[in-house]
Amino acid sequence: MNSPYSHAALIIVGHGSTLNPDSSAPTHRHADEIRRRGIFREVVCCFWKEEPTMREVFESVDSDVIYIVPNFISEGYFCQQVLPRELRLDGPVTQRDGKTIHYCDPVGIHPNMTRLLLQRADEVAPGVPRAETSLIIVGHGTNLNDNSTKAIQEQVRLIRDGGYGFAEVVDAYMEEAPLVSDWVTMTTAANVVVVPFFIADGLHSFQDIPVLLGMEKEPGKALSEMEVFRQNPILMHGRNLFYSSAIGTEPLMAEVILDQVHDFDAKHGVQASAMAAPRPLLKEGLLRWMAEGRDVMGQVLFVPEGPGYLLRHVADADLPLDGLTQHVGAPAAREIARCDETGAFRPIKTAATLRRGWALQVADVEELLLALEFFYPAALGMALAQAAGTLVPVPLRSLLGRQTGMYRFANGITDAQAGEIIGSTCQVEAKCLRRIVFGLDSAQPLGGPAVVKLGADAGLVPGMAAGRCVPLLCMEACNHIVSVARKVSRENNDAKAKQTAS
Ligand code: SF4
Repeated sequence: MNSPYSHAALIIVGHGSTLNPDSSAPTHRHADEIRRRGIFREVVCCFWKEEPTMREVFESVDSDVIYIVPNFISEGYFCQQVLPRELRLDGPVTQRDGKTIHYCDPVGIHPNMTRLLLQRADEVAPGVPRAETSLIIVGHGTNLNDNSTKAIQEQVRLIRDGGYGFAEVVDAYMEEAPLVSDWVTMTTAANVVVVPFFIADGLHSFQDIPVLLGMEKEPGKALSEMEVFRQNPILMHGRNLFYSSAIGTEPLMAEVILDQVHDFDAKHGVQASAMAAPRPLLKEGLLRWMAEGRDVMGQVLFVPEGPGYLLRHVADADLPLDGLTQHVGAPAAREIARCDETGAFRPIKTAATLRRGWALQVADVEELLLALEFFYPAALGMALAQAAGTLVPVPLRSLLGRQTGMYRFANGITDAQAGEIIGSTCQVEAKCLRRIVFGLDSAQPLGGPAVVKLGADAGLVPGMAAGRCVPLLCMEACNHIVSVARKVSRENNDAKAKQTAS
């Protein structure tokens, strides 16, 4: 590998969603592209709302030098408060456990976003003269304590001042003036190109903005991506309206992620130069465990097959291979793990709902590592760290206590309620295969119904011998627990208030 980053890991942080599988898709695609180029020794993603979390992701890489790039549209609450807190960063450079962690700026504020916006505008309205086109860059607008408005205004300024030939360039927002719903009066050209300045085609760009533009009558209708974006142009009010998908879905965003790494080095005087790669601890650990007879992780069976490995659902182990849908290559694992048998999104990858009926061939142990990472993000690293005594679980009280924003009340549950919430939310059969290794606080274990999640056998597929399994561990409660804790805390507060009043 001839790259100054051949010894380093890249972690791309996305927002993700517990409801919408499209939210994390662009972040994964950009990671795939950068991984394909072989620039970094390791490339992984983590998310605020999906797995792996920002605490877990450090177990997914074993490089000593790590670059973190937020795949966020702007600086602000998330990039300045949430991400540093969750990633345990001290500033642009953090030294921890023998690792050097570089925290880069978010992609959305990079000057090269201008190039992407221009490209996207040309793609969405091919052959349409810029001189006869109004370009609208759309953001959320903020009561979200975010700087997305600033980032969009800066892009508008750069495109206007750059002499790129548009009849006009304007910013517009969903929730503050100038409102995107006023696009007819705020623009004058015969053609209007609208580019949402969002990272993913989530509900805003996919459903809300089309309604605000008047393209659709109401949100909530089952709009497929193609249905919305294929209609270009739409003739409205005597004008040709061209609507683009979110700018973050542009494949060239992978370049901007790399630009942020290079800019970080330039700004902080880091001389990136290839160094000897550290020992591949994850690969060595997996090979060692396989030699000891471990061939199951969660609901996935993995065995050597020819020069590579074959993976399938544990429940399909005895089925003839030609009866299963064949897949090749690690990225297919992500698609297999995405939805359950009914097509419902699986935000918790360790839910016991992995669909059956597939077989996946990967070429070598590196690809096996990646496939397992896609099925069960960070699970191998956490299990190896646990075995080595280096895993640092986060007690429930610490997690709940560091919440901010709407979740800041989440720590108002009683100890008994904590046990009940875990017991009902984390059930192995129906909900999650992980074994919990965090305590209530640093001195006290979880109690009550939660104890079923704590034993050595907790989290194993029923009937599976522990000696065959790479355990799925939970080092920190997930968002579902935080949400339920918030709800119960509020009920506690309301009950207290009522008592005081009476
Ligand atoms: S908190 Fe419970 S449901 Fe969430 S990841 Fe951990 S074990 Fe699974």
